[in-house]
Amino acid sequence: MVGAGLAGCEAAFALAARGVPSRLLEMRPGTGTPAHRTDLPGELVCSNSFRSGNPENAPGLLKEELRRAGSRLMGIADAVRVPAGEALAVDRARFSRAVLEALEREPLITLERREVTELPDEPCIVAPGPLASPAIADDIQRAAGAGNLYFYDAIAPIVDGGTIDRSVAFPFSRYGKGGGDDYMNCPMSRAEYLCFVEALASARRVPPRPFEDELHFQGCQPVEAIADSGLFSLAFGPMKPVGIVPPPGREKPFAVVQLRRENMEGTAWNMVGFQTKLVQGEQKRVFRMIPGLNEARFLRFGSVHRNTYVNGPAVLDGYMRLRAAPNAMLAGQITGVEGYIESMATGLLAGMFTAALLAGRKPEPPPADTALGALLGHVTRGGEATFSPSNIHYGLFPVGPPGRGRRERRRAMSARALASLDNWLSGSP
Ligand SMILES: Cc1cc2nc3c(=O)[nH]c(=O)nc-3n(C[C@H](O)[C@H](O)[C@H](O)COP(=O)(O)OP(=O)(O)OC[C@H]3O[C@@H](n4cnc5c(N)ncnc54)[C@H](O)[C@@H]3O)c2cc1C
Repeated sequence: MVGAGLAGCEAAFALAARGVPSRLLEMRPGTGTPAHRTDLPGELVCSNSFRSGNPENAPGLLKEELRRAGSRLMGIADAVRVPAGEALAVDRARFSRAVLEALEREPLITLERREVTELPDEPCIVAPGPLASPAIADDIQRAAGAGNLYFYDAIAPIVDGGTIDRSVAFPFSRYGKGGGDDYMNCPMSRAEYLCFVEALASARRVPPRPFEDELHFQGCQPVEAIADSGLFSLAFGPMKPVGIVPPPGREKPFAVVQLRRENMEGTAWNMVGFQTKLVQGEQKRVFRMIPGLNEARFLRFGSVHRNTYVNGPAVLDGYMRLRAAPNAMLAGQITGVEGYIESMATGLLAGMFTAALLAGRKPEPPPADTALGALLGHVTRGGEATFSPSNIHYGLFPVGPPGRGRRERRRAMSARALASLDNWLSGSP
């Protein structure tokens, strides 16, 4: 394993649980990253929260699946939790120390402190995280092919399709290209646009970290930074109305916010060009000013930050192995998942897959209607052209049973996922 972060440690434990010895190679403390502060494995670099504990929410469901699938890090998180309402939050120092102790107690895992500068020739799980050292990042780029490794995220929010007001938003693809309902358009009058730009420019933002200074020079300007650059910059940029024809009888909009379909079922829609560094509460407040989105629920909030990740669907096979170097299986944030529990989940899958492959078996991937399967599907089978990192949300799942309210549909999707998972686990090593 390259990297003793959340994914690397989880993968090592999964291998050990299946009797496979491994070496876990970690570059800290000899070589640091701009965010890690300790030399402990499984360090939580920012928040101490693993998000909702309610299994009816997608993050809560993923945690329940991890527990059922034998995740060691979830077990440790549960043991060192601190009160945080419905969320699972942990004492971060106790968490990482407990991970270290568990690694040291495990005879099949050897923790070595050194930087790995190129992809090993032997079977390996590569989990160097969002702040991978430049040497290993270069080698992954070489194997993945130019243009398939990225060094920052520019993530736009995703809106729950059931909460878009379709009496206001209308389907139309710019210049009539593509399918008629590939895009939804939220139209704005001049007065609505001016009001929106003012709210956007004055909304509260996440302060940039020192090592993220260069981001805005790389063509991933947050939408609020575009608004700062001039009153009409958005109307000539991501909100330009050209080539968009409203339904008969409706006025030509002054500006539009386009929503791009995230899945065939139309349960999730991406706000095109709306990568943002607004704090989440402000995203909710300001983006709900957009006509058609007044009642919108956000499946994922936007963000812009430093991140190293591959275009998974372009370069990974169904087991997250680099197609061009199949002895290297990726895990963690570098695969294009986003978040602590998502990184752990891909680590667990990588450990399970590797143990089976080393034993000469072809492992069955988790079903698509589980949270584990939905994440794996996102990084191995999502759309290459529009790929962006994602945390777990219901928009990644196959559509739920029809004809129910949102809450009941989610409850049904969660129950379906757990039943599918149990069935899968009963046949998995
Ligand atoms: C600044 C920042 C804040 C974040 N905040 C949150 C948050 O609040 N909540 C959330 O859910 N997610 C957050 N994330 C996203 C992500 O969930 C975490 O970064 C998570 O730790 C990723 O897990 P990982 O195992 O992929 O990588 P990491 O946990 O970062 O582990 C990678 C490990 O690999 C080591 N390494 C790197 N290169 C090499 C090499 N060449 N050789 C050997 N070792 C190497 C690193 O030192 C590190 O220990 C944040 C990310 C960043 C960058």
